[in-house]
Amino acid sequence: MHQQKRIIVTGGAGFVGSHLCERLLEKGEKVLCVDNFHTGSEKNILHLRNNPDFEVLRHDITQPFFAGAHQIYNLACPASPVHYQEDPIRTTKTNVLGSLNMLDLALKLGAKILQASTSEVYGDPQIHPQVESYRGCVNCIGPRACYDEGKRVAESLFFDHFRQHGLSIKVARIFNTYGPRMDAKDGRVVSNFIVQALTGQPITIYGNGSQTRSFCFVDDLVEGLIRLMESDDSITGPVNLGNPGEFTVQELARLVLQFTGSDAPLCYKPLPEDDPKRRRPDIGLAKSLLGWEPLMPLEQGLAKTVDYFSEMLKGKKTV
Ligand code: NAD
Ligand code: UDP
Repeated sequence: MHQQKRIIVTGGAGFVGSHLCERLLEKGEKVLCVDNFHTGSEKNILHLRNNPDFEVLRHDITQPFFAGAHQIYNLACPASPVHYQEDPIRTTKTNVLGSLNMLDLALKLGAKILQASTSEVYGDPQIHPQVESYRGCVNCIGPRACYDEGKRVAESLFFDHFRQHGLSIKVARIFNTYGPRMDAKDGRVVSNFIVQALTGQPITIYGNGSQTRSFCFVDDLVEGLIRLMESDDSITGPVNLGNPGEFTVQELARLVLQFTGSDAPLCYKPLPEDDPKRRRPDIGLAKSLLGWEPLMPLEQGLAKTVDYFSEMLKGKKTV
């Protein structure tokens, strides 16, 4: 018989977090979503509110709190460059103080804890594709440092708790993820391009669009996160989770225009400082340790995401 687990998801009202809460509830678990609604939204979890196994705590994880749990997924942190650079000191605090508070809680409870780390720990990588053993190339004084270095400190805090206290930890290095419930205004490339195409605004390509990213559909990512959490205690990670299909930003713009049937023009804007030039995960470790690999091709995932945004925009005059 299924032993119901009580699971805390910090950042559960965000894009990835809301899908994770949903999937855990479908698996029959009890979920406490902890979120301060900084970049997340009530709308993302509205459909879960009547589920008796779902609770929400409005809380900023830079402050300690207590709740019982068998597992903690630590996702709380703004993920889009626009949002994490708005108040960089707050971003660093969320990554460092927030992670410490969640690690303290996991220690008190003897709970397993998973950190949503990022491909940004590799910075502007000199190794391609990125393997977990690569130590990265991060500018520690640049505008992305609050996020990149914050996530790097969080990883080291996780491993210090593992070595010093024997805490059961899991570190997932997540690569660019997209899908329904991305925030239309948070500035990420997939949501920007789709919303621009659907509303006939110019598609904003930063730089010449030759930089690459690898885009993972959110359902695939959530499956990887759960497999990592459920894996044997000897598996700590870090483990890359992402889709190894690599596309230039220019190619992504073409695909979005094709799937939306839009004739919006392309417009070129300056490349943001320290924008990584190439990014693609080596997912050999996730395949061998977790038997995981993404199943959703970009074309299909984009079509689903376009459907979501078209529905969302219906009835709205402006975005
Ligand atoms: P998101 O911005 O949609 O969600 C983050 C959530 O955390 C929001 O609901 C926000 O309100 C909440 N939050 C932020 N600061 C908080 C705080 N101090 N206390 C409590 N809640 C707080 O971002 P997302 O795309 O869902 O990303 C989720 C996690 O995955 C983040 O940790 C992010 O760094 C990581 N990640 C995401 C991607 C991606 O492409 N989506 C890639 C790499 C890593
Ligand atoms: N980008 C772009 N136009 C946009 C938004 C982003 O060309 O409207 C580019 C951005 O410069 C980067 C890539 O798309 O090279 C991915 O950007 P995003 O903010 O989604 O994620 P990240 O840079 O964190 O990978």
